[in-house]
Amino acid sequence: MSTQELVKLLDKIDGKGYKSYKDLKGKYQFSDFLLSIDYVQGDPYASPSRIRVEVPGEKANFPSKLFDTPYKKRAAVDFLSRTCASNIGRFYKHVGGSGKSGLLSIGSCGQEMLERNFVVVDQNRVEARLEVGLPAAGRKILGNKAKDIFISALPKIVEASLFYENVLRQELKKKIQLAEDQHVLRDEIKKRALVAFVANGSNLPRESGISQHPLKKGAVAFQSPVEYEVKIDLPHHGPIYGMGIPQGVTLIVGGGFHGKTTLLNSIELGIYDHIAGDGREYVVSSETAVKIKAENNRSVEKVDISPFINNLPMKQDTVRFSTENASGSTSQAANIVEALETDAKLLLIDEDTSATNFMIRDGRMQQLVEKEKEPITPFIDKVRELYENSGVSTILVIGGSGDYFDVADHVIMMDEYVPKDATEKAKRIAKSRRDYREKESSQPANKRKDHPRVLKKASFPKGRKGVKIKPRGIHQISYNKTNVELTDLEQLIDSNQTNAIGFMFQYIMEKLADDQKTLAEIVDEIYCTAIEKGLDEISPFQGHPGNLALPRKHEIAGALNRFRHLNIK
Ligand code: ADP
Ligand code: MG
Repeated sequence: MSTQELVKLLDKIDGKGYKSYKDLKGKYQFSDFLLSIDYVQGDPYASPSRIRVEVPGEKANFPSKLFDTPYKKRAAVDFLSRTCASNIGRFYKHVGGSGKSGLLSIGSCGQEMLERNFVVVDQNRVEARLEVGLPAAGRKILGNKAKDIFISALPKIVEASLFYENVLRQELKKKIQLAEDQHVLRDEIKKRALVAFVANGSNLPRESGISQHPLKKGAVAFQSPVEYEVKIDLPHHGPIYGMGIPQGVTLIVGGGFHGKTTLLNSIELGIYDHIAGDGREYVVSSETAVKIKAENNRSVEKVDISPFINNLPMKQDTVRFSTENASGSTSQAANIVEALETDAKLLLIDEDTSATNFMIRDGRMQQLVEKEKEPITPFIDKVRELYENSGVSTILVIGGSGDYFDVADHVIMMDEYVPKDATEKAKRIAKSRRDYREKESSQPANKRKDHPRVLKKASFPKGRKGVKIKPRGIHQISYNKTNVELTDLEQLIDSNQTNAIGFMFQYIMEKLADDQKTLAEIVDEIYCTAIEKGLDEISPFQGHPGNLALPRKHEIAGALNRFRHLNIK
């Protein structure tokens, strides 16, 4: 249909009941682009309507070298998404009305550059996916206001955002170059067997506890200790220097408030690339780094925590340990075993968020409470074995227990936000002050092959009206009346990732769970599907697939493992 027909339609339904908006569903050819109205909301308070605008590749005219690798494409999509968002702000004045009336938006982007599906760019087309709150007064259609959106604002937004000649080409180029540098940096730390790299000059502290924006006033720029300084040549930035943390067991020590947690948090989010101006553009870590916390009250379903915890009172099983309400130590043990199940090669642990009895049992306590009476083998006695037997490195923030000096390969001391190498001194102290602590042993941490956790179809019970899965913000998904609580998955950082996990639950329920495959195999499979076929593949929607960003395997598994209906054979 043509633009004129859209205008006619809007005139015709003006003033009618909201349901008449359903007539809009369809495709409309504008002079430069094709508008698809894929989904029309049922009333002004419901989830907004979903539309797409598509410009043919030869008209949009983006040089293909801007998106000829996955990482460049990710950067180009990020750029175009942000460009659309800013042009919506520029060309569209919110028309208002009841409920979500007048909303016009594209998925939002934060400090990280994630794999997203808000825009599609390839040889054939550039397509942006938008959400619209079709305007109404009460439940009466406001046809003229709908025209303000579709007929006056939309063409200007498309014009300014999806044509190469109209976008900020220099910015786009810089963005792609940064992505290329970050790609090389990641390759390079892998080649050099480093688990993390923090460039000199990085700005790590954040504005506040609830903001991911950089601290602007009084931030002390990062400077590597000479002992850990490495130089990496990047294609666009040129040589860059910074702290390379080798594989093994690394302690970050130092007094309170000296910046230990801030450094660990930056490493934790170094699994993602950050946008220019963030301060962490050249902070990267192993993409399999997993933050491990104590997480009281979480549910655990048949996880082998026996390498850490044995002989619980009442003869509770710890080889197939299940609980609706884990303690600090059992949750931390389960978090580690689950991380290994999805092949984590770097564990990140902060004493601030750990269970003390899980981390350490000192010499005096060993004398008072015999090993036979203590179910927990503390992490201090497992951390080396994890590295030596399974190649799993650990970075630990620890200000309270020098016992860890014995098991560390590297000790970095934060001193007024400046890291210093304290390895030799710590080793010397450890040698001279033996505090009669004895190493405690237990069986090694099992790999997933030893204890396969087969996912049962019964994990997805149906309610009277079937199954309704609804993501709520970043850290919650509701499954019928059950909440999946994700607050402690700190590396899940974007609500669009949570949207994707919501769809993945559905996809797993409908297509993958077969009472044969393990949870880890299912997570591998759905992750590969999302990578190879694209995020749209996991969406149940026609046309506009919903706003999605790719989560890692660890967060997908993390969500399943926290699902209180999870049922393992
Ligand atoms: P620790 O874990 O050692 O107790 P934190 O990392 O929590 O310390 O940091 C304490 C405070 O110092 C926080 O408010 C943090 O934002 C701030 N901070 C951390 N690193 C820097 C830095 N490089 N420059 C300025 N302030 C910083
Ligand atoms: Mg701290």
